[in-house]
This record gives sequence, C-alpha cells and structure tokens, in this order.
Amino acid sequence: MIKEGNIGVTTDNIFPVIKKFLYSDQEIFLREIVSNAVDATQKLKTLSNRGDYKGELGDLAVRVSIDKKAKTLTVSDRGIGMTAEEIDKYINQIAFSGAEEFLEKYKNDANAIIGHFGLGFYSSFMVSSRVDIITRSWQEGAQAVKWSCDGSPAFTIEESDKADRGTDIVLHIDDEFKDFLKEEKISSLLEKYCKFLPVPIVFGKKKEWKDGKQVTTDEDNQINDTEPAWTRKPADLTEEDYLKFYKALYPFSEDPLFHIHLNVDYPFNLTGILYFPKIKNSIEIQKNKIQLYCNQVFVTDSVEGIVPNFLTLLHGVIDSPDIPLNVSRSYLQNDVNVKKISNHITKKVGESLLKIFNNDRKQFEEKWDDLKIFIGYGVLTEEKFWSQAEKFALIKNTEGKYFTLDEYKTLVASEQTDKDGQLVCLYAADKEKQFSYIEAARSKGYDVLLMDGELDVPFMQHLESKLEKTRFVRVDSDVIDNLIAKADKAALTLSEEDQNKLKDLFKNNLPTLDKVNFDVKLESLGEEAVPVMLTQNEFMRRMKDMSALQAGLNFYGEMPDSYSVVVNTDNRLVKDALAVPAEDENNKLKISQIVDLALLSSGMLKGEALDKFIHRSYDLI
Ligand code: ADP
Repeated sequence: MIKEGNIGVTTDNIFPVIKKFLYSDQEIFLREIVSNAVDATQKLKTLSNRGDYKGELGDLAVRVSIDKKAKTLTVSDRGIGMTAEEIDKYINQIAFSGAEEFLEKYKNDANAIIGHFGLGFYSSFMVSSRVDIITRSWQEGAQAVKWSCDGSPAFTIEESDKADRGTDIVLHIDDEFKDFLKEEKISSLLEKYCKFLPVPIVFGKKKEWKDGKQVTTDEDNQINDTEPAWTRKPADLTEEDYLKFYKALYPFSEDPLFHIHLNVDYPFNLTGILYFPKIKNSIEIQKNKIQLYCNQVFVTDSVEGIVPNFLTLLHGVIDSPDIPLNVSRSYLQNDVNVKKISNHITKKVGESLLKIFNNDRKQFEEKWDDLKIFIGYGVLTEEKFWSQAEKFALIKNTEGKYFTLDEYKTLVASEQTDKDGQLVCLYAADKEKQFSYIEAARSKGYDVLLMDGELDVPFMQHLESKLEKTRFVRVDSDVIDNLIAKADKAALTLSEEDQNKLKDLFKNNLPTLDKVNFDVKLESLGEEAVPVMLTQNEFMRRMKDMSALQAGLNFYGEMPDSYSVVVNTDNRLVKDALAVPAEDENNKLKISQIVDLALLSSGMLKGEALDKFIHRSYDLI
C-alpha cells in the first residue's frame, strides 16, 4: 500500500449526494470517462509531436469492454497515464464548497453539476459501487499504480504490475444499474456520445452474418468516425461528402436543400455544418435537431437558448469549446459568449443564403417553396435576420413566377399605385377558390401574388410595417375598382328611394348561413360586370387569419365571417329587378338566384342553401 487517505472534500461524503441528486442523466458518466481517455491520448500525441515523448505511440485506440461475471465496465486508453502524485493532485483533491446548496439548485442538471465541480471522473460513482484506476504514466521508469474507492471518501492507492502505458478505469457497476453491463445499452450510448470522437473508440469485435447466424469476427469494432465532415476543410469535401454526413446524422431524413459549413476561430472557436431541411408543414416537429458537440464529444441536441429560435429548424452539427456546456440552461441564455455565437450563426446563415441566391438564382427559386417557412419564421422573429433576408426573400405570383421585393415593387408600381400613392399588392390565398377574382384583376392588367403558406399572413403584415407606402390586399376583399382606387368615385345616380328599395330587396332574399354575416352594398361597376359579387373586408379577415396562428387573439376567431354583398347598379338584371314591384314573387326568386350564383362562385354555397338553389334552378328551367 502506498497510501490511504480521504478524498479532499469538505462535505463528509459526496458520493451519496452525487447519487441522490443526479437521478436523471446517469448515462453521461460514459461520455465523461471516455472523454478523459481521449484527452489523455491526445495529450500523449502532443508530447510526442513536441519531441518530449520519444517512445512508440503504437495503437492508440480507447477500448471499452464489459465483464458480465465480474460486473465491471472498463475503459482503457494508452494515453499519458498518471503517477501516484498525479492521482493525488487530479483525483484526490476536489475543490468542493457550497456543495449542498448548489446541488439542491441544479439537482436535475447533471451537466451543470459535473461542470461546476470538474467532477467528470466522479460521475462514474453515479452507477458504480467501486471504481478502480489502474494507470501507468508515460514517463520512463514510472511505477504503475492502482487507486480504488468504494464511494466513501476513503480511498486506497497501491502499486500495480500494469506493464503498459495508459489507464484502465474499472467501474464495478451497482446492481441497481446492471443495464450498463448490457452490450446493447453501452453500444447505443457510445453511438450517441462518442460517434465522432477524434481517437478510435473500440467496443468489442465486429459481427457479421454467416449461415443465418451472427458470428464475431477478429476485426475491432470501431464505433466512431475520427474525422467527421465538420472538422475537415470545406475545400476537401464534395457535395456527396456533405450528403453522406447528413445521412450519418439523420438516417431516415429526406435530402436537405442546402448546407453551410461554419468555421470561426476569432473571437471564439466554432465549427459545424448546418443543413436546411425541407419544411413543408408543421414547424414544431422539425425543431431541435441540431446536435451540439464540444471538441467532438456529443453534448446535447437541445439547442434552445444557444441559437435563435428559427435556427432550431435547421439540422446539423455545431462544435464549440467556447459554449459553456456544463452550465445550466438559464445561465447559458444570458452568457455573453453564447449571444455572440448565436448572432454570428444568424449572420452566417443570412450570408450563405444571399450567396446561393446571387450565384444560383434558378436553384434558389426551385427550392424556395420548401425554404420559405424557415425564412418567414426568421424574418418574423429575428429583427437582425430581416436586414439580410429582404435581399433574397422571394414572393411568388399566381403564374408561378418569383420576385424579390424590390423587383416586384418595380413590376407593379405603374399599374398598382392608388390615388393616394400607395402601392397595392394583390394576393390570393387559394388559386381555385378565388379564381374569378384573380381573373378579374388580371384582365385589368394587375398582377396577383399567391400567398398560401402557413406564415404568409403575418409575413405580409411584417412587410407592410417595413416597406413604405405598401399594402397587401386579397383579391376578393373588394370589387376590383375599389381594390386599387384610382380616382374618387362618382356618386350613385340612383335616387335614395331606389337605393333603399334595392337594398331591401337583396337583404330580404339572402340565405342564412352558419356564422356568416352579410351586408348589402350598392356600387356602380359598369354594364359588363356581374350583378352581384361577394367581398370580405381585408382587415377583419386578416385578424381572423392571424388569430388562427396566435393564441390570445381568439376574440376575432370566434366572430362570424362578414361578407359584403356588392350589388352592381349598372347591371341589366339589377335594373330589371328595380323596375318591378318589391312584392313580385317571380322577382324575389330571381334575386335569390342571382345571390346564390355569387355565393357559388365564392365557394360558399353549401348544404341546405345549395340544395335549395339546385331545386330552384330546375324550376326555372
Ligand atoms: P476534468 O476532465 O474536467 O479535468 P475529471 O474529474 O474528469 O475532470 O478528471 C480529473 C483529472 O484526472 C483530469 O484532468 C486528468 O488530469 C486526470 N485523468 C482522468 N482520467 C484520466 C485518464 N484516463 N488518463 C490520464 N489522466 C486522467
């Protein structure tokens, strides 16, 4: 026995405390122990490169093995090892003050606790009843030693006959945690945390199928890729490499649209590859797919607080030793470094999109429909992103042509500026349903945008707040002459008496529809125009659309839909109706028929009202 003693902690016995509080996240012990082995190996390589270590490096793989009988899990490396003095210094002395209070605060956050105390190695006690360190330093003539501790502050240290350089960490797994003696369990944990570590990690031998049976081969089962794509130079990678890496990260995902390779070394270190996935429908399920690494060690795939919300829709990897990962989330969100990193990533994403847009407009347009939710979300939630996105954000018209905002303004300025100098952008939310309105607008020489995306309504709202003197108006929100009012309207030529008669006539012959209000309006629209059309006020409709997206605006959502029944006083059928006494049954029938045709062309004639219309039509025939 070289030494016996107590680990230098101020609390009587930290291990029960560690065990008690860290009931979640026990599995990260494996990440910590394997990372230490990798660090020790990297340190040896550095010593060798500098010429301080002159011996053979040999096989530097870190080996993980299970001994079911002995109930041990062992992590062996051939790194720098430790002398008895080093064990004393690095393992026995743990700075540990205010422990209880801190543990109580962060009891559900093993990462924070481990980071706070530098307890990486001690996390092994979360699952072990005893831990041995058998180690021999790289230094010539070093005496191998064995340190052992059973979870009380008492430890022993004795000489060992370990012949080889390096360290074996032997965990005597607690009965309570015997899952960690299962091959599949360890295999999946290594896959999760160690997949991209920079030193080969070997877990047993490769298996293969032979004669319908799985047999073990002689070949080491290396579980990691030591040079994942993000650690390599973009110039050395092909499109195929990027795609292959994506598939390694997300085996079952559709191919992404684009990627961005991040590489920053000042004022902080950050590497990574971000991929733009195709986002068709729901935003929520796409979130939190970015994996966060620290020097190639997987830390988490929950990146809220580290990148702006809209970027959590991206996929890929971010690796930064400068993100203080071993702290609690709330701390992280206020960290200055993290803010800088987050801003930087946003900027990079914007720059990359602009570059693709400038270099390959065609490709950008082809992918736009899958990209637009992401960009819309960014524009709506990140002020900074807007200043970049306004250069490449596209809008599409009902003919399928794409424009930047500037291009579009130029295109429609001459035809679609109203008498007050406001630019009026017309849009449709549904090409089929609003067909006749779109046609009417087009025949007038106007262009109509297609705004049928999940975030299009708030996006337009945002544009109106950013672009000067610009309004978005849906094609069916008013009669065409009022959508873009060019001159003050001439007053109706009808007498007040006739106006009232006409209004009443239509009011009295409107169908009752569920949750729909009608309001009759008279307009002089020319002899050619239809006798009656339905319009829906832009403001009210938009409020309803917005309320469907946002909680809190439900007041609007509950309100009935209000439509204007616009009666064209110039139309022959309307003039005829006015000439007949109000009580005339045949006339009433005609009015109903005219109104129903207007409802039908707006896709609103349904159920009983539709049935009545059909019967009435047969009668008329
Ligand atoms: P940290 O890794 O954060 O410093 P740990 O508690 O994980 O904290 O480890 C404490 C120290 O013990 C390490 O800094 C290292 O000097 C030493 N150590 C741990 N594992 C090994 C190993 N496998 N080989 C050599 N030294 C090790």
